[in-house]
Amino acid sequence: MNRNRVYIRNVDNLADTIAEIFSILRYGDLDGKKVFVKPNMLKAAQPEEAAVTHPCLISETVLYLERKGAVVMVGDNPVPNHQFSEMKIAEACGFLGAAHGRFRNIGKYSKRIRVQGLLDQVYVSREILDCDILISLPKFKTHDLTTMSLTVKNHFGIIPGGQKPFIHSRFPRINDFSKVLVEIYNIRPPDIVIVDLLNVADARGKTRSPGKVVAGIDGHAVDYVCALLAGVHPQTVPTIKYAVDGGMLRPDTIDIDGPFEPLSGFSMPVWFPFRNSIVEHVGRLLYRLWLYRKPVVDETRCTHCLACEHVCPCEAIHDSRIDYRTCIKCYCCLEVCPTQAITARLKF
Ligand code: SF4
Ligand code: SF4
Repeated sequence: MNRNRVYIRNVDNLADTIAEIFSILRYGDLDGKKVFVKPNMLKAAQPEEAAVTHPCLISETVLYLERKGAVVMVGDNPVPNHQFSEMKIAEACGFLGAAHGRFRNIGKYSKRIRVQGLLDQVYVSREILDCDILISLPKFKTHDLTTMSLTVKNHFGIIPGGQKPFIHSRFPRINDFSKVLVEIYNIRPPDIVIVDLLNVADARGKTRSPGKVVAGIDGHAVDYVCALLAGVHPQTVPTIKYAVDGGMLRPDTIDIDGPFEPLSGFSMPVWFPFRNSIVEHVGRLLYRLWLYRKPVVDETRCTHCLACEHVCPCEAIHDSRIDYRTCIKCYCCLEVCPTQAITARLKF
């Protein structure tokens, strides 16, 4: 099978489309396999906003996998805030119901991974590293910094909690940040990608319902075809350009199977002189501010159970006191605390 074959399907019956995709990608034998489904759960958003993966796609994927005997887990790592924990964000997105009881909070346990490149090291959710098959369900959408958010950007969510703004602040330049996204993608690339174009929103917020999915086994090739569908030159998307320049994708080997119908009038983020440097500077300021958002222990609620100390990947907690020089703001401690004694607060 050509690794760079990309399948575009107009969806009449989503269950049939999912079954066809698994069949043509030759993932028929799933009995007993640990399968992790990674949707895009950026924030608490309704399906009609087209900002997160449509719950229908998650639901049909989970049902198919369970029929095939797979041990299914669904999850993502949004940045929790004082209003919404990870599970509340999942509930607001309709993901708890769509996962049919298979949704898990994957922000609790992470493992340090060494990376050759700009990153040096990063912490990744253990469930992602431990699964047999990883399925990515990205949302097709625009993104102010990286132009488009597709498979490679969806993989930023394999990193728990507050590490994401930390990485943004370390690499504010668009090109560096895009290289880091590809480095993270390469830690554990997905085995199957199914991009959600059931409904989409463009950069002006205009929504429409193309009723499509785009699938394949190579996320870079899938992203390349999605950029073509958006009507942009793929190499204007920095993550795609870096994959091509780095020899990870040869566009001339991509083979499209299915109806290729670019979305007409799909608005991308506006380009103007100095746009990139303005976006970079504003982003740098915002993410610097984020660095002051730290985990804080409320001693009146703490029972000294030591769960936070045991889960902290950096050994930054001792006797419920946090060493902020060591803390990487992954927020794993917030997730495990049984009494909600730890919250993320601005602390200068
Ligand atoms: S997990 Fe919560 S209750 Fe347990 S020691 Fe840490 S702060 Fe205290
Ligand atoms: S104290 Fe440890 S677990 Fe908590 S946010 Fe910092 S690094 Fe993560």
